[in-house]
Amino acid sequence: MQPIKLALISTLVATSIVAAPKPKVAHLAEKQAAVASIDAHSAEMTALSDRIWRHAETALRETKSAADLASWAETQGFRVTRGVASMPTAFVAEYGNGSPVIGIMGEYDALPGISQKAQPTKEALEAGSPGHGCGHNLFGVASLGAAVSAKELIAAGKLRGTIRFFGTPAEESVSGKVYMLRDGVFEGVDVMLVWHPSDENVSDTRSTQALVDLVVEFRGHTAHAAYDPWNARSAADGLEIFTYSLNMMREHIRPTSRMHYTIQRAGDVPNVVPDYAKLWLWLRDNDRVEVDRMLERVRQMAQGAAMAAGVESTVRVQAGVWNALPNITGQRLAWQNMSWLGPIAFSDDEQLFARQIQKETGVPESGLMPALKPFEEQPGPVEGGSTDVADVSWNIPVIHLSVTTGPSAAPWHAWPVVACGGMSIGHKGMIWASKALATTTVDLFRDPKTIDAMKSEFATKTKGVTYKPYVPDGPPPVPAGDTAPAGRGTN
Ligand SMILES: [Zn+2]
Repeated sequence: MQPIKLALISTLVATSIVAAPKPKVAHLAEKQAAVASIDAHSAEMTALSDRIWRHAETALRETKSAADLASWAETQGFRVTRGVASMPTAFVAEYGNGSPVIGIMGEYDALPGISQKAQPTKEALEAGSPGHGCGHNLFGVASLGAAVSAKELIAAGKLRGTIRFFGTPAEESVSGKVYMLRDGVFEGVDVMLVWHPSDENVSDTRSTQALVDLVVEFRGHTAHAAYDPWNARSAADGLEIFTYSLNMMREHIRPTSRMHYTIQRAGDVPNVVPDYAKLWLWLRDNDRVEVDRMLERVRQMAQGAAMAAGVESTVRVQAGVWNALPNITGQRLAWQNMSWLGPIAFSDDEQLFARQIQKETGVPESGLMPALKPFEEQPGPVEGGSTDVADVSWNIPVIHLSVTTGPSAAPWHAWPVVACGGMSIGHKGMIWASKALATTTVDLFRDPKTIDAMKSEFATKTKGVTYKPYVPDGPPPVPAGDTAPAGRGTN
């Protein structure tokens, strides 16, 4: 019996070793060249990503990170324009001429207060400092690496047209892309590609939530709270009535809506009636129209609360983004290339690193997800979270990918993402993401019909919609220092 058993085992082993045949893709030679270009640059890309990981600069302070990326683009032969859309850390790098014009976006801002070493247990690299808790150190580099590969293929005469890389700062708290859109920086782009670090590999057909970020302020007048309180009108009273109304409103919003706030000021000491109170509020829904409706109700509520308390109120929109508009034609194309690339080759040590993080954070110890998720032709429900990529998607057809750079289910915008982004798990995800973008870019350059199909889907879906950004007039506000609360992100 023994030999038969052995024979059976060896057959099984042999079967499992033989790799599954790669799915067929168009333009194989160009895609192989794109992948080879990224492999050739991978050491340089990894070093660049690690530098940006160490810079860990927050929204609109990404001076060194933007400079490192822009100068790499320049050394690769791109024409670089720095400081676009009134943001010194926003830039455009371009190569080639004529159409099509394919855009790729990259981000590089960090989050305040989550500094972390590249290790599977929580320990700050520098206590209280920012950290790349959304993996944007990987994001910018992978995107620019894909643009470099397209540039090399254009230079070699294998592709024809223009590749444009957009360095888009301040995703986390200012929504830099919305300002870039407002100022026409993306004009002339036929199709835009982008990815995001994640705990899974997906060609994203699901939307994201629309969000409006506002500040509600109350102004009254002060007096001593025991000596002559009848002479005062409390701003904190206005704020309390407002939050009470807001929480009553929760019963009467759609299940898809979300409201969250923090009270930032409501007086300093009990014996002085506060003359100023401030609340920071976000309203979200899967549909921007519903966000607008909530915003209108909130404006009325602030007026009512102010009237009841005998104070003045102001409601100021500081930022906001739309819900994403997925382009199924483009996403299907990207999925084919992601599928052709095969799973990310994470090692046993990397899986162990991920499981240690999962143990530390109390989530199932399932490790990393290296395989591509099936394509969702009929996208499921929108998950929580918002992004400024969404606004771009209402102006230009966008392809959006998510790529594994961290452990499944571990907290995002938190130390595990910083840890993985500074070591080989993040690096491997970054290189794979770059290849997924680059191979999809090849298809777009080679097949004008694909671009036409994406544009036609885009035209149908945006019919009758007029895009209007939420951001206020003027240059983007630079957020308070690195100790400010973490902003919004894609998760
Ligand atoms: Zn992010």
